[in-house]
Order: sequence, then C-alpha cells, then structure tokens
Amino acid sequence: MKHIVIAHNYVIVGAGPTGVELAGSIGSYLKHITKLHHVSSVNARVHLVEAGPRILSQMSNRAANKVAKNLSKLGVIVHTSTQVQAETLNTLRTSIGSIKTNTVIWTAGTQNNEFFSNNKSVFSLDKRGKVVVDKHLCVTPTLYVCGDNASTKFSGLALTAVWHADFIAKDIVARIHHKNRPTKYERAPAQVVPAGRAWAVFQYRGIVMSGRLPSVIRRVADFVGYRDIVGTLKALTIWSNGDTTEEVCNTCRR
Ligand SMILES: Cc1cc2nc3c(=O)[nH]c(=O)nc-3n(C[C@H](O)[C@H](O)[C@H](O)COP(=O)(O)OP(=O)(O)OC[C@H]3O[C@@H](n4cnc5c(N)ncnc54)[C@H](O)[C@@H]3O)c2cc1C
Repeated sequence: MKHIVIAHNYVIVGAGPTGVELAGSIGSYLKHITKLHHVSSVNARVHLVEAGPRILSQMSNRAANKVAKNLSKLGVIVHTSTQVQAETLNTLRTSIGSIKTNTVIWTAGTQNNEFFSNNKSVFSLDKRGKVVVDKHLCVTPTLYVCGDNASTKFSGLALTAVWHADFIAKDIVARIHHKNRPTKYERAPAQVVPAGRAWAVFQYRGIVMSGRLPSVIRRVADFVGYRDIVGTLKALTIWSNGDTTEEVCNTCRR
C-alpha cells in the first residue's frame, strides 16, 4: 500500500442536474482511482455549493433526498443555503466560510439571451429573466417564444424545447387552416439525473426510482441522443467508451 496523499478540493457551484451529475462523477472517480492504484490516504474532497435550501430544486423532495444520500456515500460535501461571494486564485469565499481550492466549476445556470432584456417594450420577463408567453406560446399574435427562453413550468429541459417546437408547428398549421388552435403546451418530462457511477434517480410525475436501473435508462437515452447527432457507428464508439476512467497510468502501468 502506497502512502500517497492527494490534497485537493473540487468545488462545484450550483446543485441543479448538471452540478449533481458532475459532483457524483468526480466523487465516484476519486473513489475508483484511489482503490485501483492502492492509494492509502486521500485528502481530496468534492464540495457542492448551492444557494437554495436544497439540491435539485426542480425535482421532488423525495428524489432530492435520495440523491443527497448517495452523494454523501461518495464523500461529496453538500453546502446548501450557501452563496458564493468571491474567488481568489486558491480560495472560494462563501457566505458560510472559505474553501481552499484551485478548481471551481460553475454550473449555476444559464441566462436568457440579452436580446429579450434589451427589448423590454416587446417582452415582459419573469423573475428568472424568462419571457412571459400566452397559452399559445405567443408574445404577440405573430411572435412565438419557446424552449429555455420561455417562462413555462418545465423550460430548461431539452425535451420541453422539442415539445414546444412541435406545439408551435401544430399551432401554425391550425391557424392556416382556420381550425381550433392547440393550447396545451405543458407536458411533464421524465427526468433522470445521474449521481455517481451506475447510479441515477428517475422521476416522472409521482414516480421516483433510484439506483442502477435509472442509470441504465439514462445510458440508453444518451445513446439515442448521440445517435441522432453523430450517427449509429460513432455513437456506439462514444457510448461504449463512456465508462473508461483513464488511459494506462504512467506510474504503475495499470
Ligand atoms: C451543461 C448543460 C447540461 C444540460 N443537460 C441536460 C440534460 O441532461 N437533459 C435535459 O433535458 N436538458 C439539459 N440541459 C438543458 C438543455 O440543453 C436545454 O433545455 C435545451 O438545449 C434548450 O433548447 P433551446 O432550443 O431552447 O435552446 P438552445 O439549445 O440553447 O438553442 C439556442 C440556439 O440559439 C442560438 N442563438 C443564440 N442567440 C442567437 C442569435 N442572436 N441569433 C441566432 N442564433 C442564436 C444558440 O447558439 C443556440 O444554438 C443542459 C444544459 C446545459 C447548459
């Protein structure tokens, strides 16, 4: 057994799906490589910093609690109700104290294009800066806003954006043919958030599942996504390499 000390704090800011997935991946990876290389002493920690009172605010309490438990098993330290205040070269200052780190990863959300805030005479924005739309996803009779930019219950998810586009296409066809316009654009998408190796949480309406099966569902969904973009062959290569953790180690050749 070697006595190697890895001293490092990885800090991820924002405990939405992206931050949780990343914290789980780094946590699992640290566990895996230290075991593989017989490292006896590890002083490496993953910190997940979240301004809100809990992680995964878009998911149910039940789902979020399951994820929090799994992250804790992986050694991830979750700091909720904690705001980032400043960052120096080797410290992140937060509202509850400082964390020594050289690696800060920001996953605390994206902002709407400033095109909307620059044109406030046309667009009304909600408190997240998203555009308020009517029941047809319209801002004016001839102007639609959809996907991440629209202030709807499930915006911020890829499937919602695709469903919005489909809805708008149907609305345009209905208007051309003077038929009744559709009004139901809100659909709850199933969500699968990985939080560690071969572990994920699945939520669809009231159903919550966690563990290996949801992670398989997620892997299949990832494959379908890759295939749509790069074709089957390349997608298979990317997908089957998804569990590769490292190339041959220069020190022990494992
Ligand atoms: C790191 C990360 C991980 C994510 N993971 C998931 C996930 O696992 N599952 C999930 O469901 N969702 C996920 N999302 C969210 C998902 O990507 C979005 O909900 C989805 O892409 C929204 O689609 P959209 O068409 O509204 O916007 P976008 O996909 O952002 O498309 C907008 C497009 O408009 C272009 N554009 C911007 N300004 C202009 C301009 N002035 N003129 C012309 N073009 C312009 C942009 O370049 C972009 O291509 C993730 C997002 C991020 C950032």
